Amino acid sequence: MLLVLVVSASSLFAQYDLNLPDSLKAKEELYYNGSLPVYDVPQQKLPLMPNGKKAKNIILLIGDGTGTSQIYSAYTANRGNLHYNRIPVAGFSVTTSSDAYITDSASGATVLAAGVKTYNGAVGVNDDTVRVRTILEQAEEKQLATGLVATCSITHATPASFIAHQPARRMYEEIAADFLDTDVDLFIGGGHDHFNGEKRKDKRDLLGELKQKGYTLTNDFDALKAVDTKSTYKLASFLADVHQPRYPERGEQLAVSTTKALEILSKNDKGFFLMIEGSQIDWGGHADNTTYIVQETYDFDRAVGQALDFAAKDGETLVIVTADHETGGFSINGGNIETGEVVGKFTTGGHTAVMVPVFAFGPSAELFGGIQQNSDIYFSMIRALGWEMMMGN
Ligand code: MG
Ligand code: ZN
Repeated sequence: MLLVLVVSASSLFAQYDLNLPDSLKAKEELYYNGSLPVYDVPQQKLPLMPNGKKAKNIILLIGDGTGTSQIYSAYTANRGNLHYNRIPVAGFSVTTSSDAYITDSASGATVLAAGVKTYNGAVGVNDDTVRVRTILEQAEEKQLATGLVATCSITHATPASFIAHQPARRMYEEIAADFLDTDVDLFIGGGHDHFNGEKRKDKRDLLGELKQKGYTLTNDFDALKAVDTKSTYKLASFLADVHQPRYPERGEQLAVSTTKALEILSKNDKGFFLMIEGSQIDWGGHADNTTYIVQETYDFDRAVGQALDFAAKDGETLVIVTADHETGGFSINGGNIETGEVVGKFTTGGHTAVMVPVFAFGPSAELFGGIQQNSDIYFSMIRALGWEMMMGN
């Protein structure tokens, strides 16, 4: 009897202790120590809706570089609870670009935005560098409200590909100028330098032009927090000259940005399209840094939760959570759900070819199950909205 107790106690102890050497625990690149506060997540899975129901609004959340290990690292960090857990439909996206087995984030976002596989580095253009019409632009034409939120410069590849048309992702100033050719209702992120006439090569004062077009301009996080969403319809909100710091240094910028965006866009009776990017999950992968990945995915998951809460209440909002590709060849070689610790391992400092998960909740969520091409995600969004397919887009 005594022997049995001793054995079970020691096996229980083994479950709690990773037995890691202190030298490994000192490296945030490999080891996440479980220190982020645990947040509450509703335990019930959200319900499926009747097949074929149309969506009025779309919230597309892109975790840049987010594969299953990135998600599972945050799952472990939050002790087995994520907002991702609430989503009833899951599938996989094949992320190839038109010219490469492994995509980059520009091509990877252009295909989600416009349904066209294109070459790596392309921002809103096809293989012939001809502009493609994006879902955000189509939404504008149909008088829906539109918005972009990112935790990096708003001119960076992922948000840029929904609104700009340039042959190369590094053309940040040209990309910023493209924002002025659209009627996008709000954007929140970094990138103030690219709009600032004093910093731009051509000296064009895009900040002044935004003001003239009726945008409320804010230049830091406190100013964003103070935005009165009841009286604001067009918002250009900058949180950094170029890129925001990583989480948690930047604070609750993503949560506040998501709240503000939903409050402003949901005032439009015709509906809205909102893209929210967890931009720096990718950078954690490029840095081969487990802690960076956990922190950024944790931050992103809470934005996923906000989108799900909005959609569950609204009933006409389709939420899609996916990625452009996986970054880092990130694997999890150890961990502990009770303590939130994660031991990561990486196969590369670049992107990988593996399929990435696609999660969907809301009207027509069923379209996103199973294995699909990244381009199919665009076409399923168009179908969910009940819009006619454009030929030769
Ligand atoms: Mg990105
Ligand atoms: Zn990347």
